[in-house]
This record gives sequence, C-alpha cells and structure tokens, in this order.
Amino acid sequence: MSITYRANGRTYPEWIPNEKKDQVIFKFLSLMADHYGKSMPWIRKTYQVYLRKFAKIPVEFLSKNFDDFCGNYMGTNQGDNADYRFIPSPALIYSWLIGQSGFVKRWIVTDFGAFCLSCRSAADGKEGGFRQIYIRYTEPEKEEIKIREYVGTCDCIATDKASNVKGIPYMSVIQHFQSKYENIEAFHSYWCEETERRVSAREQSSQTWQRRLDAGYVLEKNDSYCPDWNHSYWSTAVGLALAEMLGWEHPNRKEIEYNLKRGIAGAAVEKRWTGQRRSREDGKVDVPRSISSLL
Ligand SMILES: [Zn+2]
Repeated sequence: MSITYRANGRTYPEWIPNEKKDQVIFKFLSLMADHYGKSMPWIRKTYQVYLRKFAKIPVEFLSKNFDDFCGNYMGTNQGDNADYRFIPSPALIYSWLIGQSGFVKRWIVTDFGAFCLSCRSAADGKEGGFRQIYIRYTEPEKEEIKIREYVGTCDCIATDKASNVKGIPYMSVIQHFQSKYENIEAFHSYWCEETERRVSAREQSSQTWQRRLDAGYVLEKNDSYCPDWNHSYWSTAVGLALAEMLGWEHPNRKEIEYNLKRGIAGAAVEKRWTGQRRSREDGKVDVPRSISSLL
C-alpha cells in the first residue's frame, strides 16, 4: 500500500483525505513546518486541531488567506499584536483569520471544553454549568427556620465560556446569605474524588443527617456520623446504595447482594423504606439571575 498520493501537483500522505479543504490545510501546515523546522508528527497533530477549529470556514477563504499569510506574514513581525517570527499556535492563526476581510462571524466554532466534574450534567461533560445550593437559616424576627434551594453557576472555565449558562455564581449566592444571617448552614454540590461521585448540596445538611439519626440507621460518635450495620435499613438495596454513596463499606455487602438478587430478604423491608421519601415542599429550587432576586 502506498503511503502517499498525488493531487493538484502535490504529494499528500494517505491520512489526508482526497478533499480540497484537508489538502489546503495540509499544504499550509507543510509550508509552516518547512519554515519553522517542524516534523510530520507536528503537522499531523496540528492538522486535527485546524480541522476542528476551522470546520465552518469555507475552503476558498482558507486557501486565499493561507497564501496571503505565507507570502506576507510568515517569519515576520508584521502582525498588529503578533510576532510571526516564531511558529504561530492554531489559536493565533485563528484570530488572524478572524481579522481578515470577508470573515463571517457565524464561521466561529464555539469550543467550551468540558464542564468540570462538579457541574456537568452529561457524562461526556458537554452539558452542565450549575451547582446546587442548599441554605438553611433562622429568620431572626420570627425565629423561623427557612430552607432555600438554588442553582448557581459554576466557577469552571467551560461555564465561563458557555454563553447559554446564565445566573449568579454559586459562591456569591452563599456569601449573600452568610452576610445576611448569623445562624446559617450553606452547602453546595461538589465532586468527591474519594467516592467518585457528586455530593449533592442537600445531603450535606444537618437536616438530612438528623433524619438519618432519627430513623436510627446512623449513629453519632465523636462528632462524626457512622452506620449502625445492625439496622435492617442496611440490608435493603437502597441502604446498600447509600452506604456506597457515603463511602461506607458494609461488612456483609456480598452476602446481602446475593440475598437481594435471590429475593430472599429485603423486599418487605425495602417497601417500608421507599415509602419514606422526603417531600420537596420544604425546599424551593430557583435559578436566581441577580442578587436582588434573592431577597
Ligand atoms: Zn463546573
């Protein structure tokens, strides 16, 4: 099998498809490689970046401006803010292209990168941008406990760049309440490296732990919480899932899983527990757009 082919008087490696745009990009990159002393692996790697970044730019525009760049800018310090005596990064070539006459805004590909583990809502990180917030405070005049649940924008780079993620940064929401009330509990969702899962805001609240203590399957010892493995809750599928979520290793996990699979234990107990799902009426989830809307 040949590793090259010829088209329009030039030789291309076989990994360049017989398409005008691919060939134009390759020609430009091989001229750059010659000029700046780069090798074929550099061309191959950069070619992939160019393909992605210039996906919406028509081949005629690329061809004309690449020629212009090679003839007038490459190796010079002609740019307005850039110095092309050194090899330009794909981002620099991109912003140079955007500045050329005839460039149309809709050719810009918005590349947000991945949302962070704390805020992504799709497994591949393509969606996300929000963190949950749980706030529990006492209204001083009425001595009334209030619970508020909000969604605030994350502080990761992808959220910063995503134009469709709008709201108040989650820390600003929390700080707003902390400055307003003395007796306050405030939590936000985050990614836990140890248990490799997202810890929700609500589950961190003392209210959630109080509920577990009241139910008796969690005990409080030396200022921390621990499971009472003798409690029947831990022999249910829900209990096992919670133990795993909290990073607690059930001593009889294998045995319980085996029994659950065979339907020996758990069915009746499980029913009892699933009936105790918490209602959502004491918490209201909002996506505030401004601090004044929190008041
Ligand atoms: Zn994030």
